[in-house]
Amino acid sequence: MNALQALYQVQELDTRIFDLREREEKHPLKADLEELGSRERELAGELERLQEELEAWRRKLQSLEAEVQRLEEKIKREEEKLYDGKVNNPKELRGLQAEVRSLKRQKDDLETELLEGMEAQDEMRGRAEKLGGELEALRAEREGKERALQSEVQGLQAERVELESRKKELEAGIDGDTLDLYRRLLQSKHNLAVVRVEEGVCQGCRVELPGKEYDRFLKSEAVFRCPNCGRILVK
Ligand SMILES: [Zn+2]
Repeated sequence: MNALQALYQVQELDTRIFDLREREEKHPLKADLEELGSRERELAGELERLQEELEAWRRKLQSLEAEVQRLEEKIKREEEKLYDGKVNNPKELRGLQAEVRSLKRQKDDLETELLEGMEAQDEMRGRAEKLGGELEALRAEREGKERALQSEVQGLQAERVELESRKKELEAGIDGDTLDLYRRLLQSKHNLAVVRVEEGVCQGCRVELPGKEYDRFLKSEAVFRCPNCGRILVK
């Protein structure tokens, strides 16, 4: 095989290598994973805020409970004074009774608040549990897709390694200057540096070679470049 035919095969391998690289870079699972990741962060943030709120409620209810307890003890002490017979003055007794009634009202109000708070807390716990479940499911889905992506990427990379090694063998039969030109053209010509000429038409730019140029090309054994796009032409 002459050097130009080898170069054409190198181009064919490179085209497949570029394709594999692009399939890896733009793998649809990557977009899926990005979306799952952002949804997961969103839910995790929501759950964190909910847990902070729950913690604030827990502290609030704890202090309400302590306050109710304090009132209960105070009521008990005042009632004892009412009934132990040590207070006989009617005015003082009425004062005590009024005090007990007022304390009981305060206690009732606090108990109502406590009850409402506990209901709100229950509702929040339910939401947190539901969020936690959703988050868990998202995480499992993401991990599954990560494993799938990893295995696909490994497959694509293995295929690329195989193509790279075949390319290296072919490159060994091509001179350095031609390879340098090829690599420069790959960069500047959208990864297509070597093309066939079919019925006098360059398959890179689709422009027909002028008659004289075409004749020269047909006779040429050296590197011949398209007069229009500059790509290396092969028969
Ligand atoms: Zn051309």
